[in-house]
Amino acid sequence: MDNPLLKVFETPYQSIPFSKIKAEHFIPAFKENIKNALEAIDKVAYQTAPPTFENTVEALQNVGELLERNSAILFNLNSAETSDAIQTTTQQASPLLTQFQNDVRLNQALFERLKTIYQDQDQEKLSAEQQTLLEKEYKGFARNGALLNDDEKELLREIDTEKAKLSLTFGENVLADTHAFELHITEEKDLEGLPDQIKEMAAETAQSKNKKGWIFTLDYPSYVPFMTYAKNRDLRKEFSLAFGKRGFQNNNNNNTDIILRLIELRKKRAKLLGYESHAAFVLEERMATSEENVVAFLEDLYQKAYPAAQGEWKEMEDFATQNLGLNTLEKWDTAYVSEKLKQAQLELDEQQLKPYFPLERVKAGVFDIANKLYGLRFEKNDALEGYHPEVEVYEVYNSEGVFYALLYTDFFPRPGKRNGAWMTSYRGQKKGQRPHISMVCNFSKPTASTPSLLTFQEVTTLFHEFGHALHGMLANTTYGGLSGTNVYWDFVELPSQIMENWCYEKQALELFAKHYLTQEVIPMEYIDKIKKAAHFQQGLQTLRQLGFGFLDLSYHDTQATVIQNVKTHESAILKRVQFTKDHPENCTSTAFSHIFQGGYSAGYYSYKWAEVLDADAFELFLEKGIFDYQTAKSFEENILSKGGTEHPMTLYKRFRGKAPDPKALLKRAGLVE
Ligand SMILES: [Zn+2]
Repeated sequence: MDNPLLKVFETPYQSIPFSKIKAEHFIPAFKENIKNALEAIDKVAYQTAPPTFENTVEALQNVGELLERNSAILFNLNSAETSDAIQTTTQQASPLLTQFQNDVRLNQALFERLKTIYQDQDQEKLSAEQQTLLEKEYKGFARNGALLNDDEKELLREIDTEKAKLSLTFGENVLADTHAFELHITEEKDLEGLPDQIKEMAAETAQSKNKKGWIFTLDYPSYVPFMTYAKNRDLRKEFSLAFGKRGFQNNNNNNTDIILRLIELRKKRAKLLGYESHAAFVLEERMATSEENVVAFLEDLYQKAYPAAQGEWKEMEDFATQNLGLNTLEKWDTAYVSEKLKQAQLELDEQQLKPYFPLERVKAGVFDIANKLYGLRFEKNDALEGYHPEVEVYEVYNSEGVFYALLYTDFFPRPGKRNGAWMTSYRGQKKGQRPHISMVCNFSKPTASTPSLLTFQEVTTLFHEFGHALHGMLANTTYGGLSGTNVYWDFVELPSQIMENWCYEKQALELFAKHYLTQEVIPMEYIDKIKKAAHFQQGLQTLRQLGFGFLDLSYHDTQATVIQNVKTHESAILKRVQFTKDHPENCTSTAFSHIFQGGYSAGYYSYKWAEVLDADAFELFLEKGIFDYQTAKSFEENILSKGGTEHPMTLYKRFRGKAPDPKALLKRAGLVE
């Protein structure tokens, strides 16, 4: 079989010849790629020459290039343009790749070489980037148990297996309880306040279940609009309490024991590897570095956000008493009252804004901004293949006119594409190789009469993903393993979130926010409304996020295993961020999938952390000018091009001249002067 995946592509820029690649090419290619990679790794591991950075760490960087390329193609396609064949192939490929990673991690000869180099690193004159790479490789083994004896390794495997199983069950339990409840409405008057589109959705849900009327479920797209718009307070109460019971009922889906066991296992694993707590283990590879830093960070924001939140709460109470006849606000009232207050204060209509944001012009605008900041030029090349006719491929040139990257853009929803928006790469950057980056979104499609018009939120999404794409396209490191978005987790959203700031600036909006029919520039009054909307109830929203952050940390710090009762513990933690009454039959933790199912444990703080970084970094642009050449150049040189070659705090301070200051975020949110 002539399999294109077994060779280097002979196309311009070695771009991917998508039309020649078939699903059946992947598995044979992976098998061959893995065999070659394992052979190459053994050559490194069992060579007779004494271990050096060059013959071991650097040599490993060049192992498995085709495997990496082919995995990127398959997984990216599975997200953006899947089919039954691609899905089946992905399911077959995943265990092969996991097995490969395990084989590498268990290669003790390789680890011994890395350990020697790591311990004797003072003897080699390594650059900062090389030191970081060495540390990353070494820690990759050590944090997975390479330093343990055989009994301990066995214990670690047992812990990992049990942990994985519990996390899976946790998620299944939440899902089971979510699906077990439905709010079935048969009287139209009970729908008062709900937008037509939401009613239609609920009617369709009822029809699909062969029932009359309307059905709302505990899934977010159904639950959130109901709580936000439904006037019927009794139904909001019933729905809210049902939502809060997920994973916390007297049935087989109760998650409280799973939580207690999970935090015990996480702590045990951390101790086995020599860390004081699970948080210490996680934060070792984060910009925030330590539990103390995270606590101090959250506390500082709390002290400053609390008074603002108190004021906003009082305003909601007054508004509810005067206009809605509600004297005490319960938790099932907050979203509803907040929305009513917002409408009364802002008069912002999304539909009025959309004509100013035709997709083609927004895209041209973001390219224009990248040109003003970093000198990049984007040239569409139809001769380069995409994986779908809607995909556009751009050659990207740097300020010296040198080819710097390929950019794929893919903007519309279609079957076979998952929800949401993301940036990814088909080929990373390293010395002598420029990257191939892709951004994928799900924006409203054009119709016969109207071009694709974006909501303001879609505009910020496009800027966000483009920011990630810049991190990829401007990468300029020696080693691929440290390039582009290969950075610590609480640092990766800086390049993306900072780009969103330009969407609120008059000078930037004037470049592209023009009415698609009249060419009129967006009126200043709309821009003011957008900004005002962004400030709405920022105190309360901050407090809510901080609550999750405190709760997450409390399950993973040194005190974690002292917890006896999940509900009692949670109530004590959340008391300081809540203005509504606590309900004994409800629990947040038992459905807190971010930290008990997904990978956010001891990491929930990073949402706020990233916001502080981007607000603080953008403040320099505000001081010097949002298109200031020197500031942009410094951001590129110190942040965007550097990937993970040094500790993010070092890189950040080099750009900003100081550590990030939470005050920048509070200022932007309108919480302090
Ligand atoms: Zn992002």
